[in-house]
This record gives sequence, structure tokens and C-alpha cells, in this order.
Amino acid sequence: MEKEDLTDTIAAISTPIGEGGIGIVRISGEDALKIADKIFVSSRGKPSGFKTYTIHYGKIADSSRVIDEVILTVMRAPKTYTKEDVVEINCHGGIVALRDVLELVLKNGARLAHPGEFTKRAFLNGRIDLAQAEAVIDIIRAKTDSALRLGLNQLKGKLSDEINKYRELILNILVQLEASIDFPEEEISKADLKDLAGRIERINHDLKDLIDNSKSARILREGVHLVICGKPNVGKSSLLNALLKEERAIVTPLAGTTRDTIEEIIDIKGVPVRIVDTAGILEPRDLVEKKALSRSKQEISAADLVVILFDGSKKLSQEDLLLIKNLKRKTVIAVINKIDLKQNIERQQLLSKFKNVVEISAKRNRNIILLENMIADLVYGGVVLNAESVMIGNLRHIQLIRKAQKNIAQASESLDNGLSLEFIAQEIREALGFLDEILGKKFSGDLLDKIFSEFCIGK
Ligand code: GDP
Repeated sequence: MEKEDLTDTIAAISTPIGEGGIGIVRISGEDALKIADKIFVSSRGKPSGFKTYTIHYGKIADSSRVIDEVILTVMRAPKTYTKEDVVEINCHGGIVALRDVLELVLKNGARLAHPGEFTKRAFLNGRIDLAQAEAVIDIIRAKTDSALRLGLNQLKGKLSDEINKYRELILNILVQLEASIDFPEEEISKADLKDLAGRIERINHDLKDLIDNSKSARILREGVHLVICGKPNVGKSSLLNALLKEERAIVTPLAGTTRDTIEEIIDIKGVPVRIVDTAGILEPRDLVEKKALSRSKQEISAADLVVILFDGSKKLSQEDLLLIKNLKRKTVIAVINKIDLKQNIERQQLLSKFKNVVEISAKRNRNIILLENMIADLVYGGVVLNAESVMIGNLRHIQLIRKAQKNIAQASESLDNGLSLEFIAQEIREALGFLDEILGKKFSGDLLDKIFSEFCIGK
């Protein structure tokens, strides 16, 4: 972001453009009220005369032409989203009016906001830290209630508080180390060293826990990657449909999937489950084709969880056995489908091969719930994910915590091995730097651009 950018007054449509077309034009910056004065018409006066956090009915007009009837909200700096003067114009005249109002605002001196620029200003003006700004993206993208709660908690600063707590602990250690380095004549006592080692080890332990928990958070944010496989006609598409019917489908299809697999996201007990249906990958003729097989192998190897489907009315075939062979080292649920038909499958053989077996009828919608429970149990590992606890779902944050934890572990080891305090202080300093990066106390323009480019305009 260039410097002069920050002094511009910016504007954008802040609500998603939908059918209804009712939405908000948001203006932020020094001239927000001045611009509003020029275009807002009301018998009650001009926006620059309105008190902060008040709403007003009026019209938006271009010289003589009335564009829309609106509700206008005035929020004065610094207690606003961006810490600048903010005016929000709630338009009612549909999408065309919304666009016309925005255009009029731009004509009167505002600049169209870049994606995420309102939130970027909130960060640059010190209202929120970087982790909180990133939470705004998560909230916008949240696909389930628990993912939303996770984002909201991060926005409220739960993660930041946690990181700040470790910063503080690490900083105290660093201060103590630097004091003994600067005043070597006051040699650090054995007891102090032992205390120091204990504190460093505790931080190491706690950071490791945070990293371990991040897997659950990633699942909440991005979904469990579940692959349904099975030979043709076992009922993969029918199962997908049955699952979709049972649960709310969230995204269809997932943006960015160019492969010829179908991907859907459904919400199973609060966990977003990304389902990949490999139907079509394993056509009979493809089975002999190495390429197709390797693609389905790829899908399977990327999966968190694999559902392999069998046709209960038929005996196990070569294809079934070939697929089973590909599932080594995966968490697998074996599903025997078509239990409404006369059964011929070698049930005992499957029971001896797989720990998790469910029998269903996709077509008649039988036992789908059992399958869902099993999926949820395997994902949760028996524990209910709790979005209220501090969990780190953002890959950038996880990587930085990992780096910090490595430094701390190294410091701990070096202390045990009696290495010089300078050496240990350096490790601690680096760990501190990584935590600062999470909060955005240290950041590069590139990083900001990268983060905020993920936003949509108006946020
Ligand atoms: P896919 O090729 O694995 O995706 O299989 P489909 O979902 O297209 O199903 C193949 C055929 O099996 C279709 O005619 C389905 O109606 C049928 N089918 C799927 N599930 C069941 C079931 O539980 N019982 C019965 N009787 N037929 C089923």
C-alpha cells in the first residue's frame, strides 16, 4: 500500500451483491462526512451535523435527481471499524440504485476501496492486530457454525491474547538473559538457571500443544477431506446424494476444482466434510489404465478419511480387491451398500479386513445416520471439538508457531548442554520475532498485500 493511499477517503458496497439488492455503501476517511453532506438530503440537516452513532432517514440525490431513499448512519473517528470517520448508507432501491449511490460517492471525492481495505485500515490504524484482521476473512468464508465461532473468537482477540501471553513469558526470559550477558560479573546462579530452564521447557510444551490442536482447527476451517471410492455401480453417487439430503450442502461445487471428480462440502455435526466422489475415475476400462488408477490413488492418498463402498448383493470382485489394496495406511470406513437386496458379499472377509464397517442402503436411505456418526466419531477421535478453546486454524499462524517452538526447543536443549547464554538468547529472540509476525508487529508490505488480497471489496 502506498503512503498517500491511507489519506484517501474510500468507499465500496459492503454487502454481498444479491438478488434483493438491498445493501450498504460504506465510506471511510477524512472526507466521509463532507461527501455525505453533498449527496444526502433531509429536513433534519446535514450528516456533518449529526451525532456519532445515529441513524437518519433521507434521500440520496444528484443535484436534482433523487437516486434512492436511504437510512444513513454516522460513525465518527476513532470509535469505528477503521478508526476513521465512517458513513454507511443503507440503500433500499435495489442493485441499480446501490451502484448509482456508490458512483455518486466516488464522483464527490471518494476512491473505490481495494479488497479488504477497510480491514487493512483497521489494522494499520491499530484497532486490530493482524491475526484479528485475518479472522475477518475466516468469518466471511466460514462454512459451518463452529468455523464461524472459531473466526469470531479470533476476531475478539482470543488467539492474540494467547500469543501475547507467550510473548510476555518469552520476553521476561530474554530480559533476564540479556541482563546476565550485559553484567557478566553478576554470574547467574545455579538456582536461577534451573528456574529458567523450567520456564523455557513449559513454553516449549505449551506451544507444542497449540500446534497439536491446530489439526482440529484446520478441520473446522477447511473441512475433512473424505474420499468415497468403489468400483462402478456400487452406489457412490447414490450415497453422495443420500448424504446431501441428510445434511445441508454448503458449497456445490467447490471453486477451484478442475479435476473431473465432484466435490461437495457438507456439514456433519458441525464438521465441514469435503466429499470427493471418485465416480468416473474408475470406469472398468480405466482400471487397466495405469493413469486412471494413479489418479484415484492420488485422491486417496490426499484423503483424511476414505469410504470404500461395496455392493452387498454381489460377491467381492477383482476390482474390489484391487481397491482394498490401495487403502493401506489410511483411515477407512468399509460400507456395504444395497442391504435391501439379497446379500451375496463375503461379509466375514470384510469384517476381518476392516475395523469400521457399516451396512447401508443408499437408495432407500437406510443407516446413513450410522455412517455419519462413524465419520464424526473418527474425525473427532471421540472428543467433541470445542471452538471456544484457542485453536489455530490459519496456516500462516501454525507455521510461525512451529518456528517459534523450534527455537524454544533449541534454547531448552542448549541450556541443558551448558551452551553460552548469548546463544540461548539468540534462539529466544528469534522465537519472539515469529510470534510478533503473527500479530503483525513485524510485517512486510508483501505479506499485507497477500493477506488482504484474499478479501472481497467492501470488507
Ligand atoms: P456409482 O456408479 O458407484 O456412482 O453408483 P450409482 O450411485 O450410480 O448406483 C448404481 C445403481 O445402483 C443405480 O441404479 C442405483 O439406483 C443402484 N443403487 C444404489 N444404491 C442402492 C441401494 O442401496 N439399493 C439398491 N437396490 N440399489 C442401489
